[in-house]
Amino acid sequence: MQVLKFGGTSVADAASIRQVISIVEKALEEDRTLVVCSAVCGCTDQLIGIGTLAAKRDETYKDSLEALQERHRQIIRELLPEGYRKKTQEAVDGLFRELESLARGVFLVGELSPASLSAIESFGELLSTRILTDKFLSQGAACRWLDAREIILVRGGSVDTAETYRRIREALENCPHAELLIVPGFIARDADGRPATLGRGGSDYTASLFAAGLNARRVEIWTDVPGILTAHPKVVPSARPIPHISYRAAQELSHFGAKVIYPPTIQPVVAEGIPIYVKDTFHPGEAGTLVEKNPPHSHGGVIGIAHSEGIALLSLEGSGMVGVPGFSSRLFDALSREGINIILITQASSVHSMCIAVAEADAQRARKAGEACFAYEISLGKLNPLKVETGFSIVCVIGDDMLGHSGATGGMLAALGRHSIPVRATAQGSSERNISVIVPSHRSEEAIRAIHHEFFDRFDTQVIPLFIAGYGRVGKALVKMLLDNAAAIAKRSGKELRVCGLARSKKYVIDTEGIDLSQAAQLLEDGLPGSYIDALCGLSLENAIFLDCTANEEIGFRYPDLFRCGYSVVACNKIPFSGTYAQFKSLQREAHKAGVSLRYETTAGAALPVLVTLDRVVQSGDTLVRMDAVLSGTLNYLLDNYKGTGWEELVEDARLKGYTEPDPGIDLSGVDVLRKILILSRQAGIPLEQTQVSLEPIPADIAQRYASAAAKGLKLRYVASVDAEGHASVGLREVGPDSPLFGLKGTDNAILITTGDYPSPMLIQGAGAGTRQTAGGLLNDIMLSI
Ligand code: ADP
Ligand code: ASP
Ligand code: MG
Repeated sequence: MQVLKFGGTSVADAASIRQVISIVEKALEEDRTLVVCSAVCGCTDQLIGIGTLAAKRDETYKDSLEALQERHRQIIRELLPEGYRKKTQEAVDGLFRELESLARGVFLVGELSPASLSAIESFGELLSTRILTDKFLSQGAACRWLDAREIILVRGGSVDTAETYRRIREALENCPHAELLIVPGFIARDADGRPATLGRGGSDYTASLFAAGLNARRVEIWTDVPGILTAHPKVVPSARPIPHISYRAAQELSHFGAKVIYPPTIQPVVAEGIPIYVKDTFHPGEAGTLVEKNPPHSHGGVIGIAHSEGIALLSLEGSGMVGVPGFSSRLFDALSREGINIILITQASSVHSMCIAVAEADAQRARKAGEACFAYEISLGKLNPLKVETGFSIVCVIGDDMLGHSGATGGMLAALGRHSIPVRATAQGSSERNISVIVPSHRSEEAIRAIHHEFFDRFDTQVIPLFIAGYGRVGKALVKMLLDNAAAIAKRSGKELRVCGLARSKKYVIDTEGIDLSQAAQLLEDGLPGSYIDALCGLSLENAIFLDCTANEEIGFRYPDLFRCGYSVVACNKIPFSGTYAQFKSLQREAHKAGVSLRYETTAGAALPVLVTLDRVVQSGDTLVRMDAVLSGTLNYLLDNYKGTGWEELVEDARLKGYTEPDPGIDLSGVDVLRKILILSRQAGIPLEQTQVSLEPIPADIAQRYASAAAKGLKLRYVASVDAEGHASVGLREVGPDSPLFGLKGTDNAILITTGDYPSPMLIQGAGAGTRQTAGGLLNDIMLSI
């Protein structure tokens, strides 16, 4: 014997029911089969709605009834063959007449008693199983319908399993010839014969009760997902099926919100060791999940993540608690008398305070019960009045042997920390299967995704979401470079660089699935107005990198917001790094605190590897003696081509060729070089401020300066220098043939770094401009940030 249970989505319409039929037919080839079936998807909610409207004396309950009846008629029309349709239709119409008169009764009395509600709710499963049974009969199957209400007995709110099992066996003995038995899930009766249900989602429980009563070989729970998944699939799209799971871990997952299995379902099958398979009705070939007693060991201990919303925290605090035993037991007693379920308990070792989690719906009752219990101590000031805070969620990692593996708690808290998600309370240790944290509800989904990433996604091909701010020359070159190289990078490194957002000054476009880069310009044109940084902070993505290809002053102030939301930043924008030294340091600190990286190699010395070299100097314990550098490709081009006359014409010619800023005054002022030497110095550990640098713009008497240098056989170069004491200057220098700067050609840059270990300086030289080089430098920073 085997038990197959089909949920509401599996019988939502005629097409789904056909799918169910084909699964059952296959199962029948192997064994005698008992099918438990839910109401058609959404039906129970609609029935509750009908009861509630009727109780409010709202006549529109009739419209809902009619709509529900029509939905069932439609299924019958599509599913049953001509000859059978009428009979089934009549049976279903008969059920609707009963339902109508029940609802009418509720309407007349204006009250919905628990038994009336159960009676109304029962119709969902009665209807669906009637249709399914008739369908099988129409195909000639040896099929019998069993009335679960006559079999499942609820006593004092829970199932009387001994009597229920006895009745199950009896019912089966009474139909020895039926190969297929069909049972409505969810419904039962109480000891007084009144309608009862097993609670929302209870059809799973019906299935396991029948399996246990019959000592079935297996139970299959057929649903709309490919098994028990590592997290709720609506919260974590990358959640994956758990192939094997123990009864106890599955129980924990379902208890803490994995609705795919109704929590009481597991318990009846445990004693007999009956395996439960969770399978996808719409992809029956997929393996699904096997819930069993001793699954193969799960790697790393963590199996899945569950969460429940609507949690309230109740805190008990006061000096009177210190060293006095019995406070907790009195509180627990008071709550248990009120029938309030305690979800989590934490108590600091100081015993000065204690915090428990309960469902939000119970919070005020819990507070009142607690305060009544401690009224005396509160009146004496030994205890503070109980504090209730609402708006929390509980997020749990579930595993089988987490105490035996290190890293579960650490990984969980680290993941939350990286996203700056505040943890209000934690609980671990009482079980090796569950580590729980309480977080604010509005951050709970982000928390789940972060934890899921930590334990499951990290080892996959990683998607690296990129957001490119600034769609000028560099931004465009980077987009092109990504278009050309992303596939090769993914192959080589296992990292998929995915541009998920683009922004210009006034518009932006975001699509976490990736932007069609070939349409980038048009997408931006049609983009959204407003602050893209706010939009990005609302996304909560893993591994995301923000690329600042702007020359915007304000944007640097928003980097810390981005860091806190988990973004690394790669910038070619110099301004955020060349303000005050305090600002520069604060950016580094904030990035470090958030556990993300901040790279800006292309802000000084173009894309040449200068900052990494300086990092190496600092990190290896070497000491910087001095730096002398040509950092402006534009000025070097001008000085290299200047022959003593026609400076203005030369500048204009360079402007036309695109070698200068649109306003060449910016190049000639030396401010750009000043910013670069600030960045280089700071990277080398010198806390240089702008005011400490003596800055000489390109002078008006350039012709004279040229002539005087030429007369000595020297050349003019625009050089930034700094020494270990922070003496720094930017301006024209005369250099002789013995200097490496003497022969510097065109727009090249050169950086001479003199250190304790390199008294004869290191020279880094090469292209000092070029959008391709800059884009390449950015790409390199991206790869270093991952
Ligand atoms: P049925 O109607 O078949 O009983 P349910 O709606 O009760 O189905 O349960 C299946 C749903 O449970 C899935 O569609 C999914 O949205 C939700 N769910 C929540 N957590 C999990 C999880 N960890 N694994 C699988 N499904 C989950
Ligand atoms: N139909 C019931 C519900 O929606 C029971 C079930 O589907 O398991 O809760
Ligand atoms: Mg269910």
